[in-house]
Amino acid sequence: MFNKVLIANRGEIALRVLRACKELGIATVAVHSTADNAAMHVRLADESVCIGPPPARDSYLNIPQILAACEISGADAVHPGYGFLSENARFADILDAHNITFIGPTADHIRVMGDKIEAKRTAKRLGIPVVPGSAGAVTDDGEAARIAAEIGFPVIIKASAGGGGRGMKVAKSAADLPVALATARSEAGAAFGDDAVYIEKYLAKPRHIEVQVFGDGMGNAIHLGERDCSLQRRHQKVWEEARSPALDDAQRLRIGEICANAMSELRYRGAGTIEFLYEDGEFYFIEMNTRLQVEHPVTEAITGLDLVHEQIRVAAGLGLSVKQSDINFLGHAIECRINAEDPRTFAPSPGQITYYHAPGGLGIRVDSGVYQGYSIPPFYDSLIGKLIVHGRTRNECLMRLRRALDEIVVDGVKTTLPLFQDLVDNPDIQAGQYDIHWLEQYLAGLAKAA
Ligand code: ADP
Repeated sequence: MFNKVLIANRGEIALRVLRACKELGIATVAVHSTADNAAMHVRLADESVCIGPPPARDSYLNIPQILAACEISGADAVHPGYGFLSENARFADILDAHNITFIGPTADHIRVMGDKIEAKRTAKRLGIPVVPGSAGAVTDDGEAARIAAEIGFPVIIKASAGGGGRGMKVAKSAADLPVALATARSEAGAAFGDDAVYIEKYLAKPRHIEVQVFGDGMGNAIHLGERDCSLQRRHQKVWEEARSPALDDAQRLRIGEICANAMSELRYRGAGTIEFLYEDGEFYFIEMNTRLQVEHPVTEAITGLDLVHEQIRVAAGLGLSVKQSDINFLGHAIECRINAEDPRTFAPSPGQITYYHAPGGLGIRVDSGVYQGYSIPPFYDSLIGKLIVHGRTRNECLMRLRRALDEIVVDGVKTTLPLFQDLVDNPDIQAGQYDIHWLEQYLAGLAKAA
């Protein structure tokens, strides 16, 4: 096992990783920018190293500084959390070259899954169902027109190097195609320095359903069921649940097994998430994330497994602590992402938290780095915490969520809590009937009514 883990992240996820290390008796090193001197993960870590000024490129993305922090502290492993360097293959390679363990998959697997065309090709080869579309990048407009006609309009043009929903364009008909291709290419070139694009069938009303997988890197792999993350705003997840209200046990096991078998064949190491769009009973692979996800706690709630413990075990070469037959899904869990943002306009609302009260009681978990008196810096994303609620049934979970939302108090900044109070009472949400467009349409309706 490791002696000392450096946590190359900030906020709630740095604290999450720190807690797992403490439980495993591993010493922790926090790194932080000058904007995060007073952050909770810095206060609770055994050691901390300041790695630069507030902008992320100078601190949390600054590989030489993080490496120096490893050397100064003598850390033998790095947990990257999510975001920042978590899917940076070069970072994994550099750590490897310095004999420091990257708690995550191999650099090769990060690279393959980071290129969307390559990821889709790999998924298909491993027997994972993919969205019908071009076999690779399309460079020629005539060829694009032939492919689009074959799969049928509408189609979506996506950037191979894409991420964060950028570089995507929908073409409703053949007439729209040349403009959609040209805009997607130029956006992709500007955003990612790579203008390769590919074509997919556009799904009109899908749900976003993702499968949590785990591999030991030696050919053993399991799945931990799915999460439904259809409630999104600008392709950002807002509310996540496990299990999905749309799947029955047979569908759950079928897609879970397909994913676990694929990861076993790939000899995948660590935690991963295989993301699908789901429509009319069919799954369509869109991408794989080779890291821990923000929404991992809903999976922890229904499986009782600590995903960060498993990540650390696997990285240390100890393998998984469980087999597929040990995994049972118990009850239902929902996570609300609490952002320091205006609940209507979503404008960021950094500043000091003047009063803070966390909810408690059976089935309630709050993952957050904030405390009363804490000042939310304006330099990073606005997630300030996650409220995760577990119940025996979805209804019990919703009842408990409503109660927890009544209890929690965050004063001094605006938060998205009022949005969740509305959602928990909404009939569509209560019925579990929503697709990936539902939330945007709901918010557009509110804006019109105001
Ligand atoms: P990114 O890596 O940029 O987040 P994804 O491939 O994960 O891109 O897609 C992001 C979102 O775009 C999806 O969650 C979905 O809302 C939409 N999307 C992607 N592919 C399709 C498709 N074939 N049909 C309809 N919507 C899609």
